[in-house]
Amino acid sequence: MSTRSSNAVFPTPRTASIDVNVIHDRAALDELRAGSQSLAFVPTMGGLHEGHTALVRLGREHAAQAVASIYVNPLQFGPDEDFARYPRSLEADLELLERAGATAVFVPDDALLSVSHQRVYVAPSPLAEDLCGRFRPGHFRGVATIVLKLLNLVRPDKLVMGKKDLQQLTIIREMLADFCLDIDLVAAPIVREADGLAMSSRNRYLSAAERQRAAQLNQALMRIAQSRAPEREIEHAREELSHAGWRVDYIEIRDAATLGASRPHAPRVVLGAAWLGTTRLIDNIEFPA
Ligand code: AMP
Repeated sequence: MSTRSSNAVFPTPRTASIDVNVIHDRAALDELRAGSQSLAFVPTMGGLHEGHTALVRLGREHAAQAVASIYVNPLQFGPDEDFARYPRSLEADLELLERAGATAVFVPDDALLSVSHQRVYVAPSPLAEDLCGRFRPGHFRGVATIVLKLLNLVRPDKLVMGKKDLQQLTIIREMLADFCLDIDLVAAPIVREADGLAMSSRNRYLSAAERQRAAQLNQALMRIAQSRAPEREIEHAREELSHAGWRVDYIEIRDAATLGASRPHAPRVVLGAAWLGTTRLIDNIEFPA
C-alpha cells in the first residue's frame, strides 16, 4: 500500500494501489478547505471497522468531501484506562478509509494539537457527569476539548458522529449550539455485527469465549426496549447479565433527544455499559414513547 503524505487535494487517480491523501498539518487542511466544495468531517481514534466507514460514506452523501481524522486522544482516557493498549492500526485504517471514499485522512501529531500543554478546556453540561461520566470522570471534557480543537483545524460544514456513542453525540450537539458553531451534526445509526453486538474498536480486546457472549448486552437492552414495562425490565436485565458474568456499570432509560429524564409521549432510549472481563462495552437502543 502506498500512502501519500503531500498537500495534494483530491481527486486522487484510482489505481490498483491504495492511495489516500494523508495530511498532518494546518497548511494541508487549509489547502483542502480552499476549494469551495462542502466538507464533512469524521473524527475517529483509529482501530477502524465498518461502523467508522459507514460514517465516511454518510459524510459523502452530505458533502462533496469527507475527511476522517485518526487521533487517540489522551485527554479522554483516565489514568487507569486503556490509552496505552488502545488499538493502533494506521495502515489498515488508511486502507479502509480510502475504500470508503474518504477524500483525505487527517493524522495530527501531538505537537499540532498540543494536548500536553492544554490550559483551557471545554466544560460540558452536567450530562457529562451522568451515565458513562459517572464511571469515567473527565472523559467528556476531554472529548469535547479535542473535538473543538479538531473542528477549528478542519473547519468542516458537517460533523458526522455515530449514535453508538450517544452521550458523546449529545454533548457535542450541545457544544455546537452553545458555542455558536455553524456546523451541521449528522448522526449515524449504529452498525452491528450479525449477532447484534455494536461494532467497536474495543471488541478486539475480547477473547474468543467473550466474543461469543458479547451480544448479551444488546439482547438485554433489546428486551427492555421491547417490553411493555421497560423500567421494570431493567432490574431483570441487570441480574441476567450479572449471572452471565458481566459487571454492569449502568442500564438507564432516558429521553432519546436530550438523555435527560424521559418525558411522556417522547421517544426514549435505553443505554447500557458493562464489563466483560477487562473490556467495557456500551450500547443503546431507541424506542417509542
Ligand atoms: P471512535 O473511533 O470509537 O472514537 O469512534 C469514532 C466515531 O465512530 C464516533 O462518532 C463513534 O460514535 C462512531 N462509531 C464507532 N462505532 C460505531 C458503530 N458501531 N456504529 C456507528 N458509529 C460508530
